[in-house]
Amino acid sequence: MKVRFWGTRGSLPVSLGGAALRAKLVRSLLAADGRRFADAADAEAWLATQPFGLTQTYGGNSSCVEIERRAPDPAGGNDYLLCDMGSGLRPFGNAVMARHGPQRPNHFHIFLSHLHWDHIMGLPFFTPAYIAGNRLSIYSAHAEAEQALRLQQSPPCFPVPFEALGARIEFIQLEPGRTVTAAGCQVSAKRQLHGGDSYGYRFEAEGRSLVYSTDSEHRLEQAGEAEDFAAFFRAADLVVFDAMYSLADAVSVKQDWGHSSNVVGVELCRLAGARRLALFHHEPIFSDERIAEVEADARRLERITREDGPALEVFAAYDGLEVEL
Ligand SMILES: [Zn+2]
Ligand SMILES: [Zn+2]
Repeated sequence: MKVRFWGTRGSLPVSLGGAALRAKLVRSLLAADGRRFADAADAEAWLATQPFGLTQTYGGNSSCVEIERRAPDPAGGNDYLLCDMGSGLRPFGNAVMARHGPQRPNHFHIFLSHLHWDHIMGLPFFTPAYIAGNRLSIYSAHAEAEQALRLQQSPPCFPVPFEALGARIEFIQLEPGRTVTAAGCQVSAKRQLHGGDSYGYRFEAEGRSLVYSTDSEHRLEQAGEAEDFAAFFRAADLVVFDAMYSLADAVSVKQDWGHSSNVVGVELCRLAGARRLALFHHEPIFSDERIAEVEADARRLERITREDGPALEVFAAYDGLEVEL
Protein backbone atom coordinates (compact mmCIF):
# COMPACT_ATOMS: atom_id res chain seq x y z
CA MET A 1 0.00 0.00 0.00
CA LYS A 2 1.31 3.44 -0.91
CA VAL A 3 -0.06 6.75 0.38
CA ARG A 4 0.36 9.91 -1.65
CA PHE A 5 -0.41 13.35 -0.21
CA TRP A 6 -1.87 15.79 -2.76
CA GLY A 7 -3.15 18.36 -0.27
CA THR A 8 -2.12 18.75 3.37
CA ARG A 9 -3.19 22.30 4.31
CA GLY A 10 -6.15 22.90 6.58
CA SER A 11 -9.17 25.13 6.09
CA LEU A 12 -7.92 27.12 3.09
CA PRO A 13 -5.34 26.62 0.34
CA VAL A 14 -2.33 28.90 0.67
CA SER A 15 0.68 29.71 -1.51
CA LEU A 16 4.22 30.20 -0.30
CA GLY A 17 4.24 33.85 -1.38
CA GLY A 18 7.02 36.04 -2.74
CA ALA A 19 8.37 37.32 0.60
CA ALA A 20 8.64 33.80 2.08
CA LEU A 21 10.30 32.50 -1.10
CA ARG A 22 12.80 35.36 -1.01
CA ALA A 23 13.59 34.70 2.66
CA LYS A 24 14.34 31.05 1.78
CA LEU A 25 16.61 32.16 -1.07
CA VAL A 26 18.53 34.54 1.21
CA ARG A 27 19.02 31.85 3.86
CA SER A 28 20.07 29.31 1.21
CA LEU A 29 22.66 31.68 -0.25
CA LEU A 30 24.03 32.37 3.22
CA ALA A 31 24.11 28.63 4.00
CA ALA A 32 25.95 27.95 0.70
CA ASP A 33 28.58 30.43 1.91
CA GLY A 34 30.24 31.02 -1.45
CA ARG A 35 30.28 27.37 -2.47
CA ARG A 36 30.59 26.73 -6.23
CA PHE A 37 28.37 24.19 -7.97
CA ALA A 38 29.59 22.31 -11.04
CA ASP A 39 26.09 21.75 -12.43
CA ALA A 40 22.40 21.41 -11.51
CA ALA A 41 22.92 17.89 -10.15
CA ASP A 42 25.67 19.16 -7.86
CA ALA A 43 23.38 21.95 -6.61
CA GLU A 44 20.53 19.43 -6.09
CA ALA A 45 22.84 17.14 -4.12
CA TRP A 46 23.81 19.99 -1.80
CA LEU A 47 20.18 21.09 -1.35
CA ALA A 48 19.32 17.53 -0.27
CA THR A 49 21.64 17.97 2.72
CA GLN A 50 19.81 21.11 3.93
CA PRO A 51 16.77 21.30 6.27
CA PHE A 52 13.39 20.71 4.61
CA GLY A 53 12.05 24.18 5.47
CA LEU A 54 15.00 25.86 3.76
CA THR A 55 14.69 24.17 0.39
CA GLN A 56 11.07 23.05 0.11
CA THR A 57 7.58 23.93 1.29
CA TYR A 58 4.92 21.86 3.00
CA GLY A 59 2.62 23.11 0.29
CA GLY A 60 -0.68 24.74 0.16
CA ASN A 61 -3.42 22.55 -1.29
CA SER A 62 -6.29 21.55 0.99
CA SER A 63 -7.04 17.95 2.00
CA CYS A 64 -6.64 15.20 -0.59
CA VAL A 65 -4.87 11.88 0.01
CA GLU A 66 -4.51 8.98 -2.43
CA ILE A 67 -4.18 5.35 -1.37
CA GLU A 68 -2.64 3.01 -3.91
CA ARG A 69 -2.70 -0.73 -3.51
CA ARG A 70 0.38 -2.65 -4.49
CA ALA A 71 -1.46 -5.37 -6.42
CA PRO A 72 -3.31 -4.38 -9.59
CA ASP A 73 -7.07 -4.56 -9.52
CA PRO A 74 -7.99 -8.24 -10.20
CA ALA A 75 -10.96 -7.08 -12.29
CA GLY A 76 -8.54 -5.27 -14.60
CA GLY A 77 -10.12 -1.89 -13.87
CA ASN A 78 -8.40 1.40 -13.40
CA ASP A 79 -9.40 2.15 -9.82
CA TYR A 80 -8.25 5.03 -7.66
CA LEU A 81 -8.92 5.45 -3.95
CA LEU A 82 -8.96 8.91 -2.37
CA CYS A 83 -9.76 10.68 0.88
CA ASP A 84 -11.42 14.07 0.42
CA MET A 85 -11.67 16.39 -2.55
CA GLY A 86 -9.85 19.52 -1.36
CA SER A 87 -7.89 21.63 -3.83
CA GLY A 88 -5.28 18.84 -3.91
CA LEU A 89 -7.74 16.93 -6.13
CA ARG A 90 -6.84 19.27 -9.01
CA PRO A 91 -3.13 18.28 -9.30
CA PHE A 92 -4.14 14.64 -8.69
CA GLY A 93 -6.54 14.87 -11.68
CA ASN A 94 -3.86 16.46 -13.82
CA ALA A 95 -1.45 13.63 -12.94
CA VAL A 96 -4.09 11.04 -13.92
CA MET A 97 -4.65 12.84 -17.23
CA ALA A 98 -0.90 12.95 -17.87
CA ARG A 99 -0.62 9.22 -17.11
CA HIS A 100 -3.56 7.91 -19.12
CA GLY A 101 -4.78 10.71 -21.38
CA PRO A 102 -8.51 11.29 -21.71
CA GLN A 103 -9.37 7.96 -23.37
CA ARG A 104 -9.02 5.34 -20.70
CA PRO A 105 -12.03 5.01 -18.36
CA ASN A 106 -11.10 5.45 -14.71
CA HIS A 107 -13.06 4.71 -11.56
CA PHE A 108 -12.47 7.04 -8.60
CA HIS A 109 -13.58 5.91 -5.13
CA ILE A 110 -13.66 8.99 -2.89
CA PHE A 111 -14.30 8.98 0.87
CA LEU A 112 -15.42 12.35 2.23
CA SER A 113 -14.57 13.16 5.85
CA HIS A 114 -17.26 15.87 5.79
CA LEU A 115 -18.62 18.58 3.58
CA HIS A 116 -16.74 21.70 4.68
CA TRP A 117 -15.57 23.69 1.73
CA ASP A 118 -11.85 22.90 2.06
CA HIS A 119 -12.69 19.19 1.63
CA ILE A 120 -14.89 19.46 -1.48
CA MET A 121 -13.60 22.54 -3.36
CA GLY A 122 -11.41 20.50 -5.74
CA LEU A 123 -14.29 18.78 -7.57
CA PRO A 124 -15.13 21.63 -10.00
CA PHE A 125 -11.44 21.65 -11.03
CA PHE A 126 -11.07 17.86 -11.35
CA THR A 127 -10.66 17.33 -15.10
CA PRO A 128 -11.48 13.57 -15.10
CA ALA A 129 -14.95 14.42 -13.70
CA TYR A 130 -15.78 16.18 -16.98
CA ILE A 131 -14.94 13.13 -19.11
CA ALA A 132 -17.74 10.74 -20.10
CA GLY A 133 -16.83 7.14 -19.39
CA ASN A 134 -15.12 7.93 -16.11
CA ARG A 135 -16.91 7.04 -12.91
CA LEU A 136 -16.91 8.66 -9.46
CA SER A 137 -18.18 6.74 -6.43
CA ILE A 138 -18.49 9.24 -3.59
CA TYR A 139 -18.75 7.70 -0.13
CA SER A 140 -20.06 9.85 2.69
CA ALA A 141 -21.79 9.40 6.02
CA HIS A 142 -23.43 12.79 5.51
CA ALA A 143 -26.82 12.45 3.83
CA GLU A 144 -26.40 15.94 2.28
CA ALA A 145 -23.27 15.07 0.26
CA GLU A 146 -24.92 15.31 -3.17
CA GLN A 147 -26.76 18.47 -2.21
CA ALA A 148 -23.52 20.12 -1.00
CA LEU A 149 -21.63 19.26 -4.19
CA ARG A 150 -24.46 20.55 -6.38
CA LEU A 151 -24.69 23.71 -4.29
CA GLN A 152 -21.01 24.62 -4.69
CA GLN A 153 -21.45 24.49 -8.47
CA SER A 154 -24.55 26.69 -8.53
CA PRO A 155 -24.93 30.29 -9.69
CA PRO A 156 -23.98 32.90 -8.67
CA CYS A 157 -20.97 31.24 -6.98
CA PHE A 158 -19.65 29.09 -9.84
CA PRO A 159 -20.20 29.30 -13.60
CA VAL A 160 -20.12 25.57 -14.48
CA PRO A 161 -23.07 23.56 -13.17
CA PHE A 162 -22.76 20.12 -11.58
CA GLU A 163 -24.70 18.70 -14.57
CA ALA A 164 -21.76 19.63 -16.83
CA LEU A 165 -19.68 16.89 -15.18
CA GLY A 166 -19.70 14.18 -17.84
CA ALA A 167 -18.53 11.31 -15.64
CA ARG A 168 -21.01 8.95 -14.04
CA ILE A 169 -21.33 10.07 -10.40
CA GLU A 170 -22.90 7.95 -7.69
CA PHE A 171 -23.28 8.58 -3.96
CA ILE A 172 -22.89 5.84 -1.38
CA GLN A 173 -24.28 6.49 2.08
CA LEU A 174 -22.01 5.14 4.84
CA GLU A 175 -22.91 4.14 8.37
CA PRO A 176 -20.34 4.12 11.18
CA GLY A 177 -19.46 0.60 12.21
CA ARG A 178 -20.49 -0.98 8.90
CA THR A 179 -17.52 -2.04 6.76
CA VAL A 180 -17.60 -1.52 2.98
CA THR A 181 -15.23 -2.71 0.26
CA ALA A 182 -13.89 -0.16 -2.22
CA ALA A 183 -11.08 -0.61 -4.75
CA GLY A 184 -10.03 -3.80 -2.95
CA CYS A 185 -9.86 -2.15 0.50
CA GLN A 186 -11.99 -2.83 3.56
CA VAL A 187 -13.14 0.54 4.89
CA SER A 188 -14.82 1.41 8.18
CA ALA A 189 -15.98 4.84 9.38
CA LYS A 190 -15.97 6.52 12.79
CA ARG A 191 -17.85 9.67 13.78
CA GLN A 192 -15.65 12.49 15.08
CA LEU A 193 -16.23 15.69 17.05
CA HIS A 194 -16.35 18.59 14.57
CA GLY A 195 -18.88 21.25 13.54
CA GLY A 196 -21.62 19.29 11.73
CA ASP A 197 -19.70 16.03 12.46
CA SER A 198 -16.83 14.55 10.52
CA TYR A 199 -15.85 10.92 9.90
CA GLY A 200 -12.52 9.19 10.16
CA TYR A 201 -11.79 6.17 7.93
CA ARG A 202 -9.77 3.05 8.49
CA PHE A 203 -8.53 1.29 5.32
CA GLU A 204 -7.28 -2.30 5.38
CA ALA A 205 -5.68 -4.12 2.44
CA GLU A 206 -2.75 -6.40 1.73
CA GLY A 207 -2.07 -6.81 5.46
CA ARG A 208 -1.61 -3.05 5.91
CA SER A 209 -3.80 -0.46 7.59
CA LEU A 210 -4.19 3.27 7.23
CA VAL A 211 -6.33 5.60 9.31
CA TYR A 212 -7.40 8.96 7.87
CA SER A 213 -8.64 11.10 10.74
CA THR A 214 -8.89 14.80 10.01
CA ASP A 215 -11.03 17.66 11.30
CA SER A 216 -11.50 16.00 14.65
CA GLU A 217 -11.34 17.53 18.12
CA HIS A 218 -10.47 15.24 21.03
CA ARG A 219 -11.55 15.60 24.63
CA LEU A 220 -9.19 13.09 26.18
CA GLU A 221 -10.46 13.91 29.67
CA GLN A 222 -13.86 12.44 28.77
CA ALA A 223 -14.43 8.83 29.75
CA GLY A 224 -13.95 6.40 26.89
CA GLU A 225 -12.73 9.01 24.35
CA ALA A 226 -9.05 7.98 24.29
CA GLU A 227 -9.87 4.22 24.40
CA ASP A 228 -12.40 4.63 21.60
CA PHE A 229 -9.96 6.30 19.23
CA ALA A 230 -7.07 4.05 20.29
CA ALA A 231 -9.24 1.10 19.20
CA PHE A 232 -9.92 2.78 15.85
CA PHE A 233 -6.19 3.52 15.36
CA ARG A 234 -5.12 0.09 16.75
CA ALA A 235 -1.72 -1.00 15.34
CA ALA A 236 -2.23 1.09 12.19
CA ASP A 237 0.75 1.32 9.84
CA LEU A 238 -0.03 5.00 9.39
CA VAL A 239 -2.38 7.47 11.06
CA VAL A 240 -3.06 10.71 9.15
CA PHE A 241 -4.04 13.05 11.97
CA ASP A 242 -5.50 16.55 12.33
CA ALA A 243 -2.63 18.38 14.06
CA MET A 244 -3.74 21.89 13.19
CA TYR A 245 -2.89 23.49 16.53
CA SER A 246 -0.35 23.34 19.30
CA LEU A 247 -1.71 21.74 22.47
CA ALA A 248 -1.74 25.13 24.24
CA ASP A 249 -4.00 26.57 21.53
CA ALA A 250 -6.14 23.44 21.32
CA VAL A 251 -7.00 23.50 25.03
CA SER A 252 -7.39 27.27 25.41
CA VAL A 253 -8.28 29.82 22.74
CA LYS A 254 -9.23 27.28 20.11
CA GLN A 255 -11.19 24.83 22.22
CA ASP A 256 -14.43 23.95 20.40
CA TRP A 257 -12.94 24.89 17.03
CA GLY A 258 -13.14 21.25 16.02
CA HIS A 259 -9.43 20.48 15.56
CA SER A 260 -6.65 18.70 17.40
CA SER A 261 -2.91 18.97 18.06
CA ASN A 262 0.42 17.24 17.49
CA VAL A 263 0.56 16.28 21.19
CA VAL A 264 -2.83 14.55 21.16
CA GLY A 265 -1.78 12.76 17.96
CA VAL A 266 1.30 11.31 19.67
CA GLU A 267 -0.72 10.30 22.75
CA LEU A 268 -3.45 8.51 20.78
CA CYS A 269 -1.02 6.76 18.41
CA ARG A 270 1.09 5.64 21.36
CA LEU A 271 -1.98 4.26 23.11
CA ALA A 272 -3.02 2.49 19.91
CA GLY A 273 0.41 1.02 19.15
CA ALA A 274 0.39 2.70 15.71
CA ARG A 275 3.64 2.66 13.71
CA ARG A 276 3.63 6.05 12.01
CA LEU A 277 1.91 9.38 12.56
CA ALA A 278 1.49 11.97 9.79
CA LEU A 279 0.70 15.46 11.09
CA PHE A 280 -1.91 16.83 8.69
CA HIS A 281 -4.36 19.71 8.01
CA HIS A 282 -1.74 22.38 8.74
CA GLU A 283 -2.96 25.73 10.03
CA PRO A 284 -3.00 28.12 6.99
CA ILE A 285 -1.23 30.90 8.90
CA PHE A 286 1.75 28.65 9.77
CA SER A 287 5.00 29.16 7.86
CA ASP A 288 7.17 26.20 6.85
CA GLU A 289 9.39 27.00 9.84
CA ARG A 290 6.41 26.88 12.21
CA ILE A 291 5.23 23.53 10.81
CA ALA A 292 8.78 22.19 11.20
CA GLU A 293 8.62 23.26 14.87
CA VAL A 294 5.30 21.45 15.34
CA GLU A 295 6.97 18.35 13.88
CA ALA A 296 10.09 18.74 16.08
CA ASP A 297 7.93 19.19 19.23
CA ALA A 298 5.96 16.04 18.41
CA ARG A 299 9.16 14.06 17.83
CA ARG A 300 10.59 15.30 21.13
CA LEU A 301 7.44 14.25 22.98
CA GLU A 302 7.57 10.85 21.27
CA ARG A 303 11.18 10.36 22.42
CA ILE A 304 10.71 11.36 26.05
CA THR A 305 7.52 9.33 26.48
CA ARG A 306 8.85 6.23 24.68
CA GLU A 307 9.02 3.24 26.96
CA ASP A 308 10.08 -0.27 26.02
CA GLY A 309 7.86 -0.47 22.96
CA PRO A 310 8.83 0.29 19.37
CA ALA A 311 9.33 3.91 18.30
CA LEU A 312 6.48 5.83 16.74
CA GLU A 313 7.69 7.51 13.55
CA VAL A 314 6.34 11.08 13.40
CA PHE A 315 6.47 13.45 10.43
CA ALA A 316 4.62 16.47 9.07
CA ALA A 317 2.94 15.55 5.77
CA TYR A 318 3.57 17.80 2.78
CA ASP A 319 2.11 18.07 -0.71
CA GLY A 320 3.88 15.53 -2.90
CA LEU A 321 4.97 13.21 -0.08
CA GLU A 322 4.70 9.47 -0.77
CA VAL A 323 4.78 6.92 2.03
CA GLU A 324 5.20 3.19 1.44
CA LEU A 325 3.40 1.04 4.01
ZN1 LIG B 1 -10.78 21.02 7.10
ZN1 LIG C 1 -14.01 20.97 8.79
